[in-house]
Amino acid sequence: MTAVVDQTCAPLARVSGDDLQVPLVQGGTTTYANFDYAASAPALAAVTDRVQQLLPYYASVHRGAGYASRISTECYESARASVSLFLDAADDQVVVFTRNTTDSLNLLAGCVPGDTVVLDIEHHANFLPWTRNGRRVVRAADTVEETIRLLVAELCAKPAALLAITGASNVTGEVLPLERLAEVAHRCGARILVDAAQLAPHRRISLRDTGIDYLACSGHKLYAPFGAGVLVGRRDWLDAAEPYLAGGGAVREVRADSAEWAPAPQRHEAGSPNVLGAAALAAACAALCDIDAETLASHERLLADRLRDGLCAIPGVELLRLWSDSPDCVGIVAFTLDGFAPGHVAAYLSAEHGIGVRDGRFCAHPLLARLGLDGALRASIGLGTCSADVDRLIEAVADLVETGTGWNYAVTGSHWNPTPETRPFATVDTGGASPCAVG
Ligand code: PLP
Repeated sequence: MTAVVDQTCAPLARVSGDDLQVPLVQGGTTTYANFDYAASAPALAAVTDRVQQLLPYYASVHRGAGYASRISTECYESARASVSLFLDAADDQVVVFTRNTTDSLNLLAGCVPGDTVVLDIEHHANFLPWTRNGRRVVRAADTVEETIRLLVAELCAKPAALLAITGASNVTGEVLPLERLAEVAHRCGARILVDAAQLAPHRRISLRDTGIDYLACSGHKLYAPFGAGVLVGRRDWLDAAEPYLAGGGAVREVRADSAEWAPAPQRHEAGSPNVLGAAALAAACAALCDIDAETLASHERLLADRLRDGLCAIPGVELLRLWSDSPDCVGIVAFTLDGFAPGHVAAYLSAEHGIGVRDGRFCAHPLLARLGLDGALRASIGLGTCSADVDRLIEAVADLVETGTGWNYAVTGSHWNPTPETRPFATVDTGGASPCAVG
């Protein structure tokens, strides 16, 4: 089986784990092929270098007079500037450090002064938090055009404070026209929040040019897996709302019977901040800024087209798609394989080929339900992916269809697993008495 597209493509950047050797169920090892970037992307080498450099200086932020504290504080605050630059934020937009996209969206949900309109295709993180603001759900149509028409109708029928929408679907990778949606929301008197968890790692976004009011994304999906995410957005709602957490750092003055809260971003960042996470995120933003936008897009387009074409040529493979007219798609490919449970395929790819994909409902149950599925497979690519990885995945799926699995698999617990499982699971030295099994 050969790949449909002939042009080969090398990784665009070095990432941690790019030479990771993993055991195979039938014996031996192979280099891990990571197709799960959409869940959590590996750290860019530039990010781990930055964290290594900063570690000796790690100290309290904002509160210490020591030299290391001053350096840590400087890193933390300049990380805001890097994120702001990366997203081309407008002057009235502040960067609040959070844990991840889910955290950012829950924070914003506590600040919105009115209803929020959402589509039924969202990741749960951009669906569940809005209930407290009177969530109004619009059922996406079969085309983007018709979906926008339905959103306008909903926003015009009854005023809403916010349209909360994904930048790119975490299931199909399809991208929505954000500039147009921002214009539509504003025309109807609403603001727009973009869940950019999947878009930000793949496309350059200008908040200023698109008119996006709020954006949320996760460091761990942006090659900076050190526990930080961001909410970037207009200051007025953030300053008017109750602090997300009450505690030190979020206040100007505390008396026995009252508190004077600080404005954003400090207002929503109570507690000791994650300086390493913020610095890692800033390093990722800087590294991504250094890659020419067209180079980034064409690397991804080549690999994603190769993957889609190769999978489509295999009998029984069905690619998932929401809209017939989506303008763009990031490197996420979801599919089903006739006659095989998604978990079975994922277990086979891991155990016999050392390939990591995701299976299940991707925290998007309403979306899977509307596609009539109770599960699928998802292969997602990123800066460390190359065409040889893509060919490996295509060939492994084709082999499965042609010859079946070379091992037995069964559902144990809630997952498909090889039976018997022969792979020795790597151990991590936790520094304690007993090593901790990874798996
Ligand atoms: N939004 C989208 C589109 C996602 O894909 C995800 C995670 O996969 C999230 C939100 C939640 O991100 P996190 O788990 O980093 O909070």
